[in-house]
Amino acid sequence: MAERISEVLQKKLSDRLSFYEDLGISLFYKDRSAAWSHVGSSRSLQQHSHEETTLPKPARKPEPMKLPPSALRAAPKGEALLKVTGPSLFDAVNKISGDTLLKIREDLGECTRCKLHKARNKIVFGDGNPKAQLVFVGEGPGHDEDMQGLPFVGRAGKLLTQMIEAMGMQRKDVYICNVVKCRPPENRTPEKDEVSTCSPFLLRQLDAISPKVIVCLGSVAAQTLLETNRGISHLRGEWLEFRGRKLLATYHPAYLLRNPSAKSEVWKDLQKVMAVLGREVKKGKSA
Ligand code: SF4
Repeated sequence: MAERISEVLQKKLSDRLSFYEDLGISLFYKDRSAAWSHVGSSRSLQQHSHEETTLPKPARKPEPMKLPPSALRAAPKGEALLKVTGPSLFDAVNKISGDTLLKIREDLGECTRCKLHKARNKIVFGDGNPKAQLVFVGEGPGHDEDMQGLPFVGRAGKLLTQMIEAMGMQRKDVYICNVVKCRPPENRTPEKDEVSTCSPFLLRQLDAISPKVIVCLGSVAAQTLLETNRGISHLRGEWLEFRGRKLLATYHPAYLLRNPSAKSEVWKDLQKVMAVLGREVKKGKSA
């Protein structure tokens, strides 16, 4: 007798299918209702996914677009510069030999360096593989993250987890952190002084992990690392360089929750990342 799939797994499969459909992968199942008529039989599902899965293949080996610092820091006509003169914020932060995430966390301590410490519940330092090839950098913790002390654990975090899994990885394979480690009140955008105070710790994290690819989620992360005030729509989807590493900016998962139609753009961006990491969406892959 065929083995039944648990309700938990059914829900997980359903969420994954919805996610692929949101990405615009409409051919994932030719007839999803027909697919679900097979639920209850693992063999049927396996057969179905092998026969009818038609996920697009990621682009192959895109070349990084190396922009000179002057190009990144120069704003288009009519836009004010985030940083007009002086050395880069990160020029002053040299690589610390033998730096580790543990040491950086110890140095951060119960930080009161900026005003964001006043309302925080927990510092959200970062989470994941300390030797990850891929690091996601977000803006700052929200309510759920502040309560748990972990990055991207709310609704936007669930979506990020789905994105990572769609890339053929698990959260534990990557590293996830934010520009600021404490929740801004009412989830407002971190202010310039807060970003400049906290981001050297982000830089040390990136240097310590030394990932192959950095993905900036949203404008704050991209603008901070690239030291520009260009909008995310101008920056996303192109390979840029940050201290010798490939950097790609894309939309923040919270933005995708408000604008689901943008998921297909993000999926294109993530496919570029997958190609650089040597990963492909396997035909026939299921949750
Ligand atoms: S946001 Fe960063 S610099 Fe500000 S208090 Fe928190 S850990 Fe310290």
